[in-house]
Amino acid sequence: MAVDDSDTDADTGAADRPQIDIDRVSKVYDPEEEAVTALDGVDFAVEDGEFVCIVGPSGCGKSTLFRIIAGLTDPSGGEVRVAGDPVSGPGPDRGMVFQDDALFPWRTAYRNVTYGLEEVGPPEGETVEGRARRCLELVGLGEFADSYPKTLSGGQRQRVGIARALAVDPPILLMDEPFASLDERTKTSLHTELLDIWTETGKTILFVTHDVEEAVYLADRVVVLTERPGSVAEIVDVGLERPRDRTSDPFVAVKRRVLEHFQD
Ligand code: ADP
Repeated sequence: MAVDDSDTDADTGAADRPQIDIDRVSKVYDPEEEAVTALDGVDFAVEDGEFVCIVGPSGCGKSTLFRIIAGLTDPSGGEVRVAGDPVSGPGPDRGMVFQDDALFPWRTAYRNVTYGLEEVGPPEGETVEGRARRCLELVGLGEFADSYPKTLSGGQRQRVGIARALAVDPPILLMDEPFASLDERTKTSLHTELLDIWTETGKTILFVTHDVEEAVYLADRVVVLTERPGSVAEIVDVGLERPRDRTSDPFVAVKRRVLEHFQD
């Protein structure tokens, strides 16, 4: 974490702190019975506006880490801070998107997006209706506002999920394998759309995936976790211009570097 060596108010403000600070986070499930140590001292920070992917072998604790950052599960040790404040539960500062779209089947796309807005209210200066329609347009679903989830494709349902997460205008988007169940073509076009949304909105995105190519395509930095118990094996700075060419030598070289951690 950055060391603040000044006493002025300006220098002690949120701008000096990482947006998300994952500070020596550990997780042990069922410590009194058959204890499973899922995470062991995971430590890294995500800066405001960064796109960071977390990858690691199956069972290394990616979802557990996601749930801790989201405030859905407590860590056994360490803590997560968002803008300097310890996470103690879910909050409107962190929008969530899951692999399973988790939409309400009885609500239209529009009414799925208004769901969070009804609880938290629209961002200042916007109406519920205006905000919901703008978010549906942002994900390319303006014309599908009145459609029910069962009439939408898998990719469209994930788009509604993204629109719903964006509706309350959280500074952070947390995404847990959001495209894992989609076909390659849909996944690829959603990658482009997500990067466009990221550029347009300036959100901080923390994206969990087991797909190394997806991580290298999307992220500024890729956090590679070790096998269970998960800890940080390496943080790879991707450093490639966007849009990225998945077949280019530099892309393949970064991918290979990440994949090296998956080999015995
Ligand atoms: P990943 O997302 O990387 O596949 P998970 O976070 O789902 O990994 O799981 C990490 C480890 O923790 C696994 O061994 C899993 O079986 C265990 N685990 C996950 N959730 C629970 C739970 N609720 N109770 C007990 N063990 C769990």
